[in-house]
Amino acid sequence: MTIPSIQKPIDMHVHVVGNGSGGTGCWLRVRGWHRPLAAMMLRHIGLPRGTMAGELDRLYIERLLELVRGSSLGAVVILAQDLVYDEQGRALEGAGSFFVPNDYVLQLARQHPEFLPAVSIHPARPDALEELERCLQAGAVMMKCLPNCQNINCNDRRLTRFWERMAEAKLPLLAHTGGEHTVPVVCREFADPRILTLPLECGVTVIAAHCGTRSGLFDPDYFHVFAGMTRRFPNLYGDTSAFNVPIRGQHIPECLREPLLGRMVQGSDFPVPVHGHFAWLRDYVDWKSFRRWEREPNILERDYQLKLAMGFPAETFTRIQGLLRLPSRLEFKL
Ligand SMILES: [Zn+2]
Repeated sequence: MTIPSIQKPIDMHVHVVGNGSGGTGCWLRVRGWHRPLAAMMLRHIGLPRGTMAGELDRLYIERLLELVRGSSLGAVVILAQDLVYDEQGRALEGAGSFFVPNDYVLQLARQHPEFLPAVSIHPARPDALEELERCLQAGAVMMKCLPNCQNINCNDRRLTRFWERMAEAKLPLLAHTGGEHTVPVVCREFADPRILTLPLECGVTVIAAHCGTRSGLFDPDYFHVFAGMTRRFPNLYGDTSAFNVPIRGQHIPECLREPLLGRMVQGSDFPVPVHGHFAWLRDYVDWKSFRRWEREPNILERDYQLKLAMGFPAETFTRIQGLLRLPSRLEFKL
């Protein structure tokens, strides 16, 4: 079945979190200064105080559904989050700050047409290939990982078979690139987009989350490494996720120029806060658009509209439909 010409925009980078309430299998371990940060994010998406220790899982999903339905988006890709493993495939106890099982996002997507499921599989897990097969069968549309936070050396030759199977199944990889400050970093060097070389050589469609941009002031900036790699690899894309936080948005003007523009896809990084001040201060959006959309209470819509106002064309918001592993019924629905 072909994709219909009228396509609704998709936000392909939306996190699910939970504390395991309701038997979801999720967990959340927030320590130190991440605590107020997490509480602030929950308030930002409109959840009441105390939700983190309460029925977070159900309330989070209800809120997210409400936001998607009240926005211009046709669907959002919801992300699972695997554990941290060492190179030998042993789970590192005590590492990682949250976990979201693949079965949970797969089930949510079966229940709600607004959700498309992205699973998360550490490819060094001893059962990585079996889990990949199981998730493909269950309808996974994408695979998400954070090489620097989950300790994944994607260039390890032992992972070749895993990447080849992903390429064969046309399952795209969304991989975090650049610094990270909301989730603890295990291996700093893996923030470099060059960590994605082997999957790219194996033919996997790879989306570099955040285009290698910095998260904190003192992070190395890998944007130009990412941009250079897009010239070498036609199967490399970048997402706009968290471009509405102060430092990440630094390279927006370069992302808006061809040929890079043709490789951009829309992601918000929900529940990461969305504010237009920085885009306005840097003159990426005009005063009128800033005033109009900063007041928009739906942050998925605010992020979408601010990016439209920056000059990202309609294709940036629909391009992902051609990259996801969509069953034909979903293509039709969208
Ligand atoms: Zn993210």
